[in-house]
Amino acid sequence: MSSESLSIIDSQAIEKPVKKFKLALHWQILIAMAVGIGVGLAFSSCTAPCNISGPKPGLCSVVSYSYLSVHSFSWMGEVFLRLLKMIVIPLIFCALVNGVSHMKAGQLGKVGLTTFLVFKISMLIAAVIGLFYVNLIKPGIGFDVSGLSRDSISHMNLHGHENFFLSIIPKNIFFSLSQENQLIQVIFFALIFGIALVHGGKETVSISTAFEQIFKIMLKITHWIMKLAPFGVLGLIISAVGTTGLAPFISIGKYMLVVTLALSTMLFVVTPLLVFFFGGMGPLKFFGGVKEAMLTAFGTSSSAATLPVSLDCVQNNLGVPPAIANFVVTIGSTMSMNGAALYEAVVTLFLAQAYAPLIPGIDLSLKGQIFIVGMVLLSTIGTPGIPHGGLITTTIVLQAVGLPIEAIGLIIGVDRILDMCRTMTNVTGDCASAVIVNNLIGGKTVEVAALNDDVSSEDTVDKTINDMARTM
Ligand code: ASP
Repeated sequence: MSSESLSIIDSQAIEKPVKKFKLALHWQILIAMAVGIGVGLAFSSCTAPCNISGPKPGLCSVVSYSYLSVHSFSWMGEVFLRLLKMIVIPLIFCALVNGVSHMKAGQLGKVGLTTFLVFKISMLIAAVIGLFYVNLIKPGIGFDVSGLSRDSISHMNLHGHENFFLSIIPKNIFFSLSQENQLIQVIFFALIFGIALVHGGKETVSISTAFEQIFKIMLKITHWIMKLAPFGVLGLIISAVGTTGLAPFISIGKYMLVVTLALSTMLFVVTPLLVFFFGGMGPLKFFGGVKEAMLTAFGTSSSAATLPVSLDCVQNNLGVPPAIANFVVTIGSTMSMNGAALYEAVVTLFLAQAYAPLIPGIDLSLKGQIFIVGMVLLSTIGTPGIPHGGLITTTIVLQAVGLPIEAIGLIIGVDRILDMCRTMTNVTGDCASAVIVNNLIGGKTVEVAALNDDVSSEDTVDKTINDMARTM
């Protein structure tokens, strides 16, 4: 080979960036879960604590000589959960303030109320569908969670339902911000703060912009924390399986079946019915118009990332006027989460069924389930439209009904696939809400505000957010 051709090859090698192999996060989590099950099983096969006091049969003999115990790994799960707890208050606070402050004062009236009612009614239906399937299939009954919950149960304090509505109002917001179990008070304050920002007019624009930027920073931090999910899952699963064996994971299959069945009912039966009766649009036109948004949502697991595609579909394929589409779909990407509402209701009742034998006072009655639905409707207001956003706000509902949040370690390993399905339900619900709100307020004759009309072709969520901030 001539030196000339060698140098060409060299320069090509230099110019062509080496493609680094990167495994998607959901695969990393699934692998961590599989490894966690394997290592946990090795520990659980030891009847006595693993030490070097004598060889034991099979895998356990290896474990015995390794000086390791389940507790050598549980700190990994603890680190991950602490990081999640660290971000939950600032994330939700900023998501809410940012969402509300993007409205104009006039929008807080008729359109705002109609939109809010449409969001809440469809989320209510979604949560009830979720509870229906959990009551039917009962995936949590017989689910042994004793190993995972042993340390946490003693610290749980059960909240009564009676003073719930009064307890939403914080006496001291700084105190509420510093408490793990007062997130509802934080949500309440954030909504009022956001509305006040809207009414502040020009004088408070800089604060709105600051919140928008802070929200982006919070999303970034959440993204980093989620990168640690495989590490956290490994620790949580080793400690769960190592203490209780594999039995709990048989119930996870049933749980996944319940979530998928319930999401399919909401997505393919209830949503088109709502669009038909209240939006005046047939299912073929609706699904034909939103299919790109549905697929993007499935692929990204993020309502926020899908926002530009949703806006495009709703305006250009379904013919909803841009002003209504921009308002409803954008606010909906945080405040309307049919899939997340359904999911949170299923997770809470599933875990309540599982923990009922261990935590006296867990209420599985109709009254208890109505309380769960109420909590779900409140907490989903602040669910960020990012991968696993619903998992984070589920902790609010778990805490409110007196369940240990460590329990999410049992379901996080299978969360990505369920997240893809529920994000598709969330985004389709946002598009459906835009059609319904537009129809209910009288279609194209209503001018909401001089919103930006040409965001449909943007291909990044950042650009959309920036454009809207400029024009609102
Ligand atoms: N990933 C979902 C979304 O972006 C939120 C969730 O976890 O339910 O819509």
